[in-house]
Amino acid sequence: MRTERILRLNSLIRSTRLKLAGALAFDCLGLRHSIVRFDPVLACNVRCGMCYFSDDNWLAQNPVKRLSEAEIERLAAMFFPQAMQLHIGCGAEPTLYKNFPKLVSLGKKYRVPFIGFTTNAQLLTAEKSAALIEAGLDEITISTHGVKQETYERLMKKASYPRYHQNLADLVEAKRAAKSASPRIRINYTVNPDNLSELRDFFAVFGKYAISTLQVRPVVDMGDTDYKDKNFDPHLGEYKEIMDGLSQECRSRGIVLLANLRNPTYSNPNEASFVYEKAILRYIGPGYVWRDDFDWRKRTYREFKREVRYRRELLGYIMKLPALKSANTVAYEVY
Ligand code: SF4
Repeated sequence: MRTERILRLNSLIRSTRLKLAGALAFDCLGLRHSIVRFDPVLACNVRCGMCYFSDDNWLAQNPVKRLSEAEIERLAAMFFPQAMQLHIGCGAEPTLYKNFPKLVSLGKKYRVPFIGFTTNAQLLTAEKSAALIEAGLDEITISTHGVKQETYERLMKKASYPRYHQNLADLVEAKRAAKSASPRIRINYTVNPDNLSELRDFFAVFGKYAISTLQVRPVVDMGDTDYKDKNFDPHLGEYKEIMDGLSQECRSRGIVLLANLRNPTYSNPNEASFVYEKAILRYIGPGYVWRDDFDWRKRTYREFKREVRYRRELLGYIMKLPALKSANTVAYEVY
């Protein structure tokens, strides 16, 4: 199921308890309900100013780590059979994993209905694009934090704007050559006071790439990052005005717009993210798998869930929802 459909379903079902009950029922019945976010490597070839990869202290505490092939196979066998979505590349750059198209094939082997891949596209050669298409990738999300070259290269240090455009053009061409509608192309734009106004020119530059989805989210505070101007409050009026225009443009082009307009400063508690974090999300990366207390090398997923009485835990939330705090959790709306 595609992300915008999940988001629409999420907004249709208003009750947090009902959503938790659904996740519990699906888990009991062995049905797919989880979203696996999977980083094979903890590293990135780019240093985006708004990302922890531009924070020297964070980098010192998080040296490069990678999962071995055998570890990936074990984790896939545990988590993929219950996954309704697999997203490869979540908090790091997946093209740094040597044979990254194989990860898509692995998801397909377990029949995960939707597989996404998030990348800065700097290492996405024409050959690798063809391999991702061949493996059956459903959607590729490309991080793009500037419309103009100067902004893009200033906010995404070490990335090259011409290389980005070449690789994106090669991907579009590889899809055409393979006569494939997949992967759908999603552009992810983290908006901040420096790159907001140039969003007005987004389609003048990117309109030629047959994009399926544009995703825009205001900057989130990720610690002591290179980019410091994270107060988006003074820009909310302009943001709303630009997003109104983009929304109309996307509609006329048949493009899905995913954006955060209701809670752009992340100041309101988000019940949907509580359900997501407690019942749906399964993050897998080198050094961390799902929960702090899960020693996945010694236990299986199934054994661990039984041990910690996971279902009872969910039932407890259904009976008594804890007070929710505001958090920097992004919740997109579909336009
Ligand atoms: S490309 Fe993604 S993971 Fe890498 S620095 Fe930028 S935002 Fe962070």
